[in-house]
Amino acid sequence: MRIIPVTLGFDQCYLLQAGGAVLVDAGTPGKGRAFAKALDRAGIAPRDVKLIVVTHGHWDHVGSARDIRKLTGAGLAMHEREAPWLENALTPLPPGVTAWGRILGGILSLSLPFVRIPACRVDLKLGNEGLSLAVYGIPGRVLHTPGHSPGSMSVLLDSGEAFVGDLAMNGFPLRLAPGFPILAEDVAALRESWRLLLAQGARMIYPAHGKPFEADVMRKALAG
Ligand SMILES: [Zn+2]
Ligand SMILES: [Zn+2]
Repeated sequence: MRIIPVTLGFDQCYLLQAGGAVLVDAGTPGKGRAFAKALDRAGIAPRDVKLIVVTHGHWDHVGSARDIRKLTGAGLAMHEREAPWLENALTPLPPGVTAWGRILGGILSLSLPFVRIPACRVDLKLGNEGLSLAVYGIPGRVLHTPGHSPGSMSVLLDSGEAFVGDLAMNGFPLRLAPGFPILAEDVAALRESWRLLLAQGARMIYPAHGKPFEADVMRKALAG
C-alpha cells in the first residue's frame, strides 16, 4: 500500500494505491493541473484512479472535484447529506467552537462569498453505512464520522491509517498542535465519531490540514 500526500491548495489530499488507486479529497478550486502533475510524479496513470472519496462538502475539499473527475474518469463518492452542496456549488461554513475558531470563522465568512467552486456530479451518494473499498483494490473502508459537518466521512485502512478530513486539525493557522477541529457543527457527534474510529482500529491519523500524527493524541483529547 502506497500513501502519497498530494497538496492541492489549502488541503492535504491523499492518493492511496494498492490494487487500484483511490484519491481522498479533491482540494481547493483550480488545482486540476497540480493534481495531474502529482499523478505523473507518482507514476500513476489517470485511469488507474478508480474512485474519488470526498471526506465532506466544504469548499477546500471539493474545489477541484470536477477537474479531477474529468481527468481520471473516476466516480466521485461522498455522503448523501452533502452531495447537494457540491452539485449546486454551495460553500457552507461550520461555526467556530473555540475562541480562535470563532475569530477565524469570522474572517473566512467574509471571504467565502468570493470563492467559486465548480459544481460537480456525485456518482456515489453514500449513506451512514459507508462503503468498502475492497472492490477498488484498497483494503479499507469509508466510515460515516459526523461532527465537523453532518456528512463527514473518514477512510480507514485495515492497517490502521485513518484519513479523517477535518475531523481533526493539525497545523497553522488552524491549530498549533493536533487535536479536535476548531470549526464544527456538532461537538457531541464529533467525539462519538472519534470513539468509533479508535474502536475500529485507527492508529495513525492523516488530517486534511497539517501533518499526520499518532491516534493516541485523540485518545487523550477525548479523555481531557
Ligand atoms: Zn471542513
Ligand atoms: Zn478543510
